[in-house]
Amino acid sequence: MPEKNEEITVEITGMTSDGNGVGRADGLAVFVPGTCVGDRVLCRIIKPSKNYAVGKLLTVLCPSADRVESECPVSSVCGGCTYRQMTYEAELEIKRKKVADAFARVGGISVEPQKTVGSVSPDRYRNKAMLPVARAKDGRLLIGFYAPRSHRVTDCRSCMLSPADFDDAVAAAARWIENSGVSVYDELTGRGLVRHIYMRRAPATGEMIFCLVINGRSVPDGKGLVKTLTDTLPGITGILLNVNTSRGNKVLGSEFITLYGRPEIRDTLCSLTFEISPPSFYQVNSPQAERLYNAAAECAGLSGNELLLDLYCGAGTIGLSMADRVSRVIGVEIIPEAVENAKRNAELNGITNARFICADASKAAADLRAEGVRPDVVVLDPPRKGLDKDVISIVADDMAPSRIVYISCDPATCARDCAVFKEHGYEVKELRPFDLFPRTAHVECVACLKRYSDNR
Ligand code: SAH
Repeated sequence: MPEKNEEITVEITGMTSDGNGVGRADGLAVFVPGTCVGDRVLCRIIKPSKNYAVGKLLTVLCPSADRVESECPVSSVCGGCTYRQMTYEAELEIKRKKVADAFARVGGISVEPQKTVGSVSPDRYRNKAMLPVARAKDGRLLIGFYAPRSHRVTDCRSCMLSPADFDDAVAAAARWIENSGVSVYDELTGRGLVRHIYMRRAPATGEMIFCLVINGRSVPDGKGLVKTLTDTLPGITGILLNVNTSRGNKVLGSEFITLYGRPEIRDTLCSLTFEISPPSFYQVNSPQAERLYNAAAECAGLSGNELLLDLYCGAGTIGLSMADRVSRVIGVEIIPEAVENAKRNAELNGITNARFICADASKAAADLRAEGVRPDVVVLDPPRKGLDKDVISIVADDMAPSRIVYISCDPATCARDCAVFKEHGYEVKELRPFDLFPRTAHVECVACLKRYSDNR
């Protein structure tokens, strides 16, 4: 068994679902972050344990054919990216395998995923950033990312995953923080004002908001902040404060205060305009979200005269993008601001056959069942934890749509839920992985389910 600080050679033969290379030493699995399948590496054991060990990469002795030089200057210290050391093609195949593994191992479902649909651009694709702000012990201002598995802030004011406007806004905000003498939040003591910078930018329209998350309700020299940002980015459409006085890890509090412009941004997806409020969910990679929604529409196989139920609908994006191919859309979402966005988005696009309900998905599903609503197609797009069991039983047993389109950002919970759907008479016909988060270990997938009884 390898011991702590021992230096060993490992052949990397596989990849874990969170993106660490894995090899074997003395019959034990050794996980080495920053490696590629096919690498032979020298690593130092930093965490030995009975069942596995974790190694820190020291030298690549013999590189995998997939290995490339990372183009990012901070990728070795920043916790954001996982796959900077390999070609994008290799990353897409790892993501396909991750989905395949989840369905085979967690779901016990034999379905071969299609090739992962790669992002239009693997860099600068994000439309949103949340950057922690801190002071180093020596007083330096730090704005950037948490180092892996820690709350230590790595100073990184330019991220290769984000648009250049974010870099400019962060530089301007940093100048304002230093000049205004505003205090910076300290997680340990709970004192200090500035906690995070939250930004969103719609690639199709260029609309952009900048939001300073503060441990209080106002900042000294708010006018100066607005001036600095609007001088730097004349096209910025909103400057806000978010009030977060809690001690926890949650980034955003519930209250937003507008200092300048409008809090919402408008983006274009699937030829529709979507207005998104700061607390509403919005896919972070807009061009790729459009492809995802188009694939969802294909799976839904819409015939023009059917009822579509869009559960976990956020700002209504998926249901509204299909509204012209169905008779009616019902959307369900728990965040009130997102439901308001969804209603407004229907209006903005002249869509009159959509209705939105603000409720927990299982409660709304039960109410809709009681109303006798029988959708022909159900789209499910839950958060990472997946579906509640009662959502599955109400949808499958009582509503019994002929097709279910399950969009997921976690293949493991999606596979688990699809296995339950199988017991309730639904089969996964197609599985399509989509890369919405290049360079990270995350992968989105669309599972197309059909009722067995309708297949015959
Ligand atoms: N379909 C949307 C949003 C998907 S993200 C899109 O593509 O943009 C998942 C959404 O589920 C979020 O908007 C979240 O607020 C919502 N949500 C989380 N828990 C929920 C619950 N219990 N009931 C209903 N909606 C929920």
